[in-house]
Amino acid sequence: MAIIKASNLIKKYKNPENKSKIFNAVDGVSLSINSGEIFGILGPNGAGKTTTLEMLEGLKDIDEGLALINSIDVTSNPYEIKKLIGVQLQANEYFDNMTLVELLKLFLALYNSSNDPLDLLKKVKLEDKANANANELSGGQKQRFSIASALVNNPLVLFLDEPTTGLDPQAKRNIWDLVLELNRTGMTIVLTTHNMEEAEFLCNRIAIMDHGKIIA
Ligand code: ADP
Repeated sequence: MAIIKASNLIKKYKNPENKSKIFNAVDGVSLSINSGEIFGILGPNGAGKTTTLEMLEGLKDIDEGLALINSIDVTSNPYEIKKLIGVQLQANEYFDNMTLVELLKLFLALYNSSNDPLDLLKKVKLEDKANANANELSGGQKQRFSIASALVNNPLVLFLDEPTTGLDPQAKRNIWDLVLELNRTGMTIVLTTHNMEEAEFLCNRIAIMDHGKIIA
């Protein structure tokens, strides 16, 4: 059963070289993503992967087309959608002077969630860093923490934007194991990557994107 349906998504931006010209950064993307699968959007830099994800997440306006998550229209129900999804952005910044537990308590409060911050840290194997600040984490640990913070509301769908870019091979493996573990609980995972090995290892299905279009 499809949990995400997108039809003919279009995002228009001004051409950086000639601001009077508009181009379609996302140019008519249609997707159907099944409940419980790991779905990958693979493509080179600038292909439109992040913009596609951000439209599905309700973080960027959809200029044309329609996106549904769990049959709910993303454009007209942004708050309902936020209850259903967890989002890990490509880069994350956290308050420097708060510990991981304090940060998670803040996110839990924003989502009115009664989850236990230590349970979330255990899920991503960071329980020993509970009282560390986010700026004391390695790149891989920071990515795992950002996944923990995306899980505060027990999302049905988890979006991961290039979750392993820039990580060393071991940290990458740890993220892959975590993604598989979350997926085994039934969570649908949508991720972007430009790493073919990652797409092959993790994903049940892949859309290959270039120049704003799905080409395969
Ligand atoms: P990817 O995630 O595949 O690397 P993006 O979705 O980030 O690609 O970008 C797709 C295209 O849209 C690129 O040409 C990029 O320069 C352009 N773009 C992205 N965000 C903006 C923006 N806020 N304003 C103008 N152009 C943008």
